[in-house]
Amino acid sequence: MWIVETKAALRGKIPTAFHPIVLVPTMGALHPAHASLIRMARKEAGPRGVVIVSIFVNPIQFDRPQDLKSYPRTRKSDLAICLAEGADGVFLPTVNEMYEEDRSIIISESSLSEHLCGATRPGHFDGVCTVVAKLFLLTRCTAAVFGEKDFQQLAIILRMVRDLDFPVEIIPHPTIRESDGLAMSSRNARLTPEQRADAPRIWQALLEASRQPGIEGMLRTARVMIEDSTLATIEYLELVYGHDLRPLRNLSTPAILACAVKYGSVRLIDHIRTLPR
Ligand code: AMP
Repeated sequence: MWIVETKAALRGKIPTAFHPIVLVPTMGALHPAHASLIRMARKEAGPRGVVIVSIFVNPIQFDRPQDLKSYPRTRKSDLAICLAEGADGVFLPTVNEMYEEDRSIIISESSLSEHLCGATRPGHFDGVCTVVAKLFLLTRCTAAVFGEKDFQQLAIILRMVRDLDFPVEIIPHPTIRESDGLAMSSRNARLTPEQRADAPRIWQALLEASRQPGIEGMLRTARVMIEDSTLATIEYLELVYGHDLRPLRNLSTPAILACAVKYGSVRLIDHIRTLPR
């Protein structure tokens, strides 16, 4: 497995003849969910294809400097996971390698990012789109795997690929959960033992809510079950259309019940699909 830190070195690793190149973009601190994304990429690429994992904590998608500073960095174990899951190469650029000091162009999303996480994180999804576009161009990938856990991110990347005609197939990967239902996240490691024990209520609340017959009942059930905790604070809880993330008006179409819940300074997101009725 090759490991490169510069764009020039990466260029030297990209095959010149056509091969599937499948990218898994990450910010590192890899856990079993990331491992599963890499396995899926390996399967998609096939034996002749190339699987590239990028590990880059992208500063321009952080709206809070403290969040960027405290983001976990675990290079050694990240590389061990990439190797174990059959990645062909890892791209680990520095911030200076990725961004010129006087850079002046970004990719801006102006609709889907107004909702959910985007509503309270100005510039976050523009930072995501910009780095993902750069990674697509640098790796010349033909496909890329993204987790459904970050479903707003996935929806926005799909929109970017559609609107800008990127020749990249986007492969969604289902959310991977701990055995108690909590969605795996690098952020879970920052929970105190009490918060960690409490956090599975988020998924339980979404599950219970999704069984309710009406929109009001769904939102009320999830809110009551989450707010029953003294440790959890709801940042948002919304029922939206999956394709454009606008608030849902009736339950006749499939929808997404999504939330962000804060445990102290740790912000966890999760969602569930609801069936039409
Ligand atoms: P991150 O390093 O957190 O930016 O995540 C890198 C990729 O892994 C993104 O496509 C995420 O959606 C995906 N991912 C992270 N956690 C999970 C999870 N629990 N289940 C599925 N995909 C995930």
